[in-house]
Amino acid sequence: MKHIVTFEKIFPKNILAFTTDRAADFHFKKSTPILNRAQKIFLKSHAGLDSAALFNIQQIHGRRTVLGRPHQAEILKADASITNIPGVALTVRTADCLPVFLYDSKHKAIGIVHAGWKSTDKRIVIHALKAMKRKYRTQYKDVKVAFGPAMHVCCFETDRTFLRRFPEDTVLEGGKFYFDNAAANKRQLASLGVVPKNIYDKRVCTYCNKQFFSYRRDGKDTGRILSVIMLKI
Ligand SMILES: [Zn+2]
Repeated sequence: MKHIVTFEKIFPKNILAFTTDRAADFHFKKSTPILNRAQKIFLKSHAGLDSAALFNIQQIHGRRTVLGRPHQAEILKADASITNIPGVALTVRTADCLPVFLYDSKHKAIGIVHAGWKSTDKRIVIHALKAMKRKYRTQYKDVKVAFGPAMHVCCFETDRTFLRRFPEDTVLEGGKFYFDNAAANKRQLASLGVVPKNIYDKRVCTYCNKQFFSYRRDGKDTGRILSVIMLKI
């Protein structure tokens, strides 16, 4: 069984991008080392990735974007990171939240976003792309986007407050409310000028598919899947 999901359909060969499954738990622990031996071996054997390349963030369901750098000394609180430095592997860790991969094909810059509903509500994907524009002169029409495994609208049951937050992306079915996080992020990307054909949704629901961790299905002690994007050296 293949233990990573990849995105060759949208990203060229100079990009390494993948999401792990529940064969390894990448739950963030604020201690050194960030990765244990089993996690390092997993990344090497399944993705050919040296774990020293990882740039980690402490996710807080906000909207802050930080710059990914090599030889990370400090773990910053943020929910997105960007870089144009080859060999820096940007990461987010999720269990139902949406991992969003960004690639500026013209300026060779990348980004990754942890879009739970709270960060989607704060329009984090727009903030991350604006940071890429400021820093790398990214033009939105050149951006390719991939959505990794996340809880989809089939399972994202919520309450009526979402009708007010996300009126266009909350659906009422059988007297229950469901939130379409991917659709909300697509809408935000489109509002900036990202081209619809440049957005690739893997369409894997973490709740439906037991190959992945799901916070909603498994509870708060569940693990985290790791999403990575890196410009190859
Ligand atoms: Zn589902």
